[in-house]
Amino acid sequence: MSGASSEVNSSDWLYAFAFADYPVRGALACLPDTWQALSSRRQYPHPMDHWLADMLTSIALIRSGIKASGRLSLQIRGQANPHLLSVECNEHWQLRGMARYRAQLALADKLSEIDSGLLTMQLEPPGEGVSYQGVVPLAGDRIAEAMQNYFQKSEQLPTCFILGFTEQCPTGLMLQRMPGEMAEDDWRRINMLAATLSHHELQQQQPEKLLKKLFYEEQIELFAAQSPRFCCSCSRERVSRMLLQLGHEEASSIVAEQGRVDVACEHCGEGYGFDQIDIEHLFASQDAAAPVSDRVQ
Ligand SMILES: [Zn+2]
Repeated sequence: MSGASSEVNSSDWLYAFAFADYPVRGALACLPDTWQALSSRRQYPHPMDHWLADMLTSIALIRSGIKASGRLSLQIRGQANPHLLSVECNEHWQLRGMARYRAQLALADKLSEIDSGLLTMQLEPPGEGVSYQGVVPLAGDRIAEAMQNYFQKSEQLPTCFILGFTEQCPTGLMLQRMPGEMAEDDWRRINMLAATLSHHELQQQQPEKLLKKLFYEEQIELFAAQSPRFCCSCSRERVSRMLLQLGHEEASSIVAEQGRVDVACEHCGEGYGFDQIDIEHLFASQDAAAPVSDRVQ
């Protein structure tokens, strides 16, 4: 049976850090293998690839500041082509992402062309439900601006994102000012120093050296390295649950029309096929089972 979660080996890294003298935390990440795994399964035209790469880096950086388990997701929805961009990262640093768009129609060139755009972030703990959700109107021409705006509006936490994506390598730095005393000038100075960071440096240098060089006057505590990687959580079982929700009649009518039900995962492209016998078995085994309301993927 196909459909085991596809986890990919990766040399990608993420480091969280904190300033000793200020209520500022941050994270640095470099995600070429994660991006390679995502984009080799489904290719996205420009600039959608850039937006997805920046969102992937952002969600990993943000995940570093959250202790609770569960899937943290970031979505942009709007009236445009694409109409959905979505990325996720769980507490095991497994990432995935996808966009929904119509290949035959013109694509948005700029983020600001996404009409009535909304940026949503949510945390879903293991099991059911949502433990946190924030939604703000999409603002800015770049994902970094949209993320800064999100934290300002939704959390009232000044947050700076420096995101890079060249040569198929997403990199990023996040700085977040937590509640606590800090002179406005110090926050501004740290941000100006961060803005001098180049994408090339993030790709090439050791994080420890990089932070020392960047914030040479500051005491910084660097936390243990994390290893983000692409992993899709789709499975035949989850697709089965989706078919059960669809109902026996609807599933049977698809089989009658097309000979079978074929479902492809939007994140990784993995295909799941069900013929007439599979469908009958599935609904027969449902019998006394409790209704299932899990998400499909
Ligand atoms: Zn999948």
